[in-house]
Amino acid sequence: MPVSVDTLLCERICRAATERVIGNQVVVAPTVWCGMAEHHMDFGGTFTFDVPIYRALLLCLLKSLERNGFRRVVIVNGHGGNRPALQALLPDFARETKLRIRVAMYYAATGKSVISMLDRAAGKHAIEFETSMMLALTPELVKNSRLQEAYGGQEPEREYAPILRRTTRHRSYKRLASTGVYGDARRASAEKGMAPIKECAQSLAEMLNHKNIWLNSAELRSHK
Ligand SMILES: [Zn+2]
Repeated sequence: MPVSVDTLLCERICRAATERVIGNQVVVAPTVWCGMAEHHMDFGGTFTFDVPIYRALLLCLLKSLERNGFRRVVIVNGHGGNRPALQALLPDFARETKLRIRVAMYYAATGKSVISMLDRAAGKHAIEFETSMMLALTPELVKNSRLQEAYGGQEPEREYAPILRRTTRHRSYKRLASTGVYGDARRASAEKGMAPIKECAQSLAEMLNHKNIWLNSAELRSHK
């Protein structure tokens, strides 16, 4: 699969979601194609930010949105490597803008059928879920002839040493899974890809349609 999987899937799902938003006006901003990908650098072809640059770039984009009159922003994330950085940066965004900001993975609001595909994929990479969606959307970017090689990954060391279970450290994905696939994508197919795309788009739209999406807990209490 190409290195642009997260960008492609996230953008397509965001666009499909906006078609399903009722009432609220939603604008999809251009996708930020680069993020926190140090753990993928050993594969080649990858670009990465470090935290100060990622922070500066997102703050500039958010402040631009604010100056253009927007008040509410959902940052839809397509790449697991961005998650800890976004989590850490939310207080900065709150302090330095007046925007109401919510961060979510593009599959964050999905139900059981997608969750079951993701559960198998916890912490994993380029597995059946993503490969199927790519085969459905952009089959020309997936080398079908190599699909039978699309599996791999070593057990994390905490499986061998339970005392390490609650610790963490940085690791190159290449050492974790030399094929780049951490998990198993061999059963991926275009047919399996359409349902999760639709469900991700639908659930994202439902989240955006939700009347209470921008209320904080005190406001929600008074709305009861
Ligand atoms: Zn990714």
